[in-house]
Amino acid sequence: MICPICNRQLRSKKSIERGMGPVCARKLKEAEYQSETQKVK
Ligand SMILES: [Zn+2]
Repeated sequence: MICPICNRQLRSKKSIERGMGPVCARKLKEAEYQSETQKVK
């Protein structure tokens, strides 16, 4: 299993279940949050 965002090998079971590494997951969450707040405005 490889992270689709940074193409790095996922080692931890949690990352594999999530489909991406913890750093990319956080970045994606922040990006979603920002796009949502922009929509409200
Ligand atoms: Zn990644």
